[in-house]
Amino acid sequence: MSAKQRFDVVVVGAGPAGACAAAAAAENGVSVLLLEEHAEVGVPLACAEGLSRSTIQGYLEVQPGWVARSLSGSIVRSPRGREFTIEYPNVGWVMDRKVFDPALAERAQQRGAVVKLSCRATGIEDNEISVEENGKTVRYQWKYLIGADGVATHVGSWMDIDTRLGPAQIEICAQYLLSNIMIDADRAYLIFGRKYAPGGYAWIFPKSATSANVGLGLSPVKTKEKPKTLLDHWVMEEFPAAKIEERVFSGVPAKRLKRFSGSNFCLVGDAARFTDPLSGAGIANAIKSGTIAGRNAARVIRGQKHDLENEIKKEILDELDWHYRVRNVYLRLDDEKFEDIFRVAEKIFHGSIITDINTRRLVKQILLYSPHLLKVGFRLLF
Ligand SMILES: Cc1cc2nc3c(=O)[nH]c(=O)nc-3n(C[C@H](O)[C@H](O)[C@H](O)COP(=O)(O)OP(=O)(O)OC[C@H]3O[C@@H](n4cnc5c(N)ncnc54)[C@H](O)[C@@H]3O)c2cc1C
Repeated sequence: MSAKQRFDVVVVGAGPAGACAAAAAAENGVSVLLLEEHAEVGVPLACAEGLSRSTIQGYLEVQPGWVARSLSGSIVRSPRGREFTIEYPNVGWVMDRKVFDPALAERAQQRGAVVKLSCRATGIEDNEISVEENGKTVRYQWKYLIGADGVATHVGSWMDIDTRLGPAQIEICAQYLLSNIMIDADRAYLIFGRKYAPGGYAWIFPKSATSANVGLGLSPVKTKEKPKTLLDHWVMEEFPAAKIEERVFSGVPAKRLKRFSGSNFCLVGDAARFTDPLSGAGIANAIKSGTIAGRNAARVIRGQKHDLENEIKKEILDELDWHYRVRNVYLRLDDEKFEDIFRVAEKIFHGSIITDINTRRLVKQILLYSPHLLKVGFRLLF
């Protein structure tokens, strides 16, 4: 066994959350080790790569080279196949995470973090972390530990945090990167209904005019069907000539943890279950929580007052809690009720250029227009 090395902050996992945590801590003058179990950052990847501009404002300047496609709105499809378009210029991007994720890790390195690839964290004992590195077990000492190890996190359980996901606390997903298809390359498609994705939704996130991430997420409490079976049916129906370039089978957490931190550690990103329970989007909250955690870890090391919990609450959890309430209502909707909501949403969005979507205002508008939902909706939501 080789000699122990010491770092102020050790970050496990070099996805967006870990890379942003490492960059923020290093920038604030403390020594940082960023560990990634895979040989390359961003490979393998389970993501449709959608990122909305407003969600990361003030946290990250997106560079043109990180983007596969800029989006100017969405096409929304109802269970019965009605469609409307939301015109939302510059709403965001379909990222190229095979470029984006390594760029974030490189940014952490440029700010002073030591980045180690092919290094899998395997456990902790007191303030030491064990890492499998070049066929050996190496131990590193840390003063502050950041768990950014994604949906299948182990750091959480090492720190006595119950991150396990029951069937009601996960959306299970299947996605293909398809080529040889024809789509509107400027818009994300969101498709609802039992046939496609019970308790979730299906998506098409364009990477070009002829290729896209096409997938769906479903709630296992709403169906016994496997996401792959539903995806195969849909792809055969909608894109019969498509070629499957890549396949993803994974899950998105939808669990609100009671606790995500302690005096000398915290979880961030998917490990902390900061994924949006309505949309399944987690890149933005990974970037935000990582940045906030890295900054606060440096304050802890320097013995300064830190404000991790409050910052995370204000920047992430308040919105997430609201979306959990909306998800509760969403999971009770059948296709008929959804069709009603869809008609109202169509009226709200039709012919308007959108510059901001406020989900609280939108939900209130929809409830007021939908007599079926008014009673149950208001009781559950407000
Ligand atoms: C099918 C699907 C589609 C999605 N689409 C979108 C989307 O369009 N937009 C969006 O915003 N979000 C989307 N998400 C969610 C998004 O991918 C995640 O929220 C995001 O990647 C979370 O970032 P992270 O840094 O927390 O975790 P990850 O990106 O998962 O990174 C965790 C890293 O930790 C590493 N690691 C794990 N264990 C160890 C260990 N023991 N030692 C060392 N390294 C370790 C992993 O290799 C990985 O690199 C989707 C998810 C799925 C499953």
